[in-house]
Amino acid sequence: MHNTQPPAELFKTTLTRHDEISPDVFLIGFKREHDFQPGQAIKLGIDTENAPRIYSICSGPKDDELCVLFNIKHDGFLTPKLTTLKPGDSVYASAPYGTFLGTQDSAWWIATGTGIAPFHAMTAAGMADNKVLVHGVRHLDQFYFSERFASALGKNYHRCCSAEESTDTFSGRVTRFLSEQKNLPTDQRYYICGQATMAVETRDILIGKGIPFSNIITEIYF
Ligand SMILES: Cc1cc2nc3c(=O)[nH]c(=O)nc-3n(C[C@H](O)[C@H](O)[C@H](O)COP(=O)(O)OP(=O)(O)OC[C@H]3O[C@@H](n4cnc5c(N)ncnc54)[C@H](O)[C@@H]3O)c2cc1C
Repeated sequence: MHNTQPPAELFKTTLTRHDEISPDVFLIGFKREHDFQPGQAIKLGIDTENAPRIYSICSGPKDDELCVLFNIKHDGFLTPKLTTLKPGDSVYASAPYGTFLGTQDSAWWIATGTGIAPFHAMTAAGMADNKVLVHGVRHLDQFYFSERFASALGKNYHRCCSAEESTDTFSGRVTRFLSEQKNLPTDQRYYICGQATMAVETRDILIGKGIPFSNIITEIYF
């Protein structure tokens, strides 16, 4: 049985991983204590006094470590503090929860930035076979886990880069990539993960292309 509602309690745990995998982007992890479904999230904090923030689980459901991927908000509360930690330091986490759940059915996965995290968890769980993944970033060094996605999805892995050009990437945002697609399947689910403006714009494009609203599932990072 998996939680769909946020658990109130946080437990203290010890970081086993703290890597800057790209400028200002970190992958951190600790020993996995719970089962979860790929796509779910945890609450995370550095103490129990201040409100925790929410992070999608990036690692696979059978991995020994539970990892999250985050970028620094320099004027934010938690992320500047998280970046100064190191393996062995304590953090406070909740049990996994949430309703953004991957399945084995054919679907499109659409992410920007660190919104790729739940799709990495789904890929690690063996759900990538019949998926199309569209990942949008500003810079070429922000295609996190691209080797794994390329290997799992092949030609169904589309990389969109808005601020730099490369021969093997689409030049522009995910929204332009999707706008240019003809005949998007209307009987599949479209999972969208990232910031609110991208999610809303993407939703509108999909609806405009005949995708039923009930086939659009969003996880908004706000
Ligand atoms: C379901 C879900 C999953 C998420 N998963 C991820 C993930 O996997 N990876 C990830 O990187 N992020 C994720 N997020 C976002 C994450 O929870 C945090 O919001 C983010 O990391 C910033 O936290 P922070 O404490 O550093 O910044 P915050 O202190 O929360 O501030 C965030 C921004 O808001 C601004 N702000 C704060 N207070 C005010 C105010 N009073 N008025 C105006 N502006 C203000 C800040 O200047 C800053 O730019 C997720 C969010 C949700 C809801």
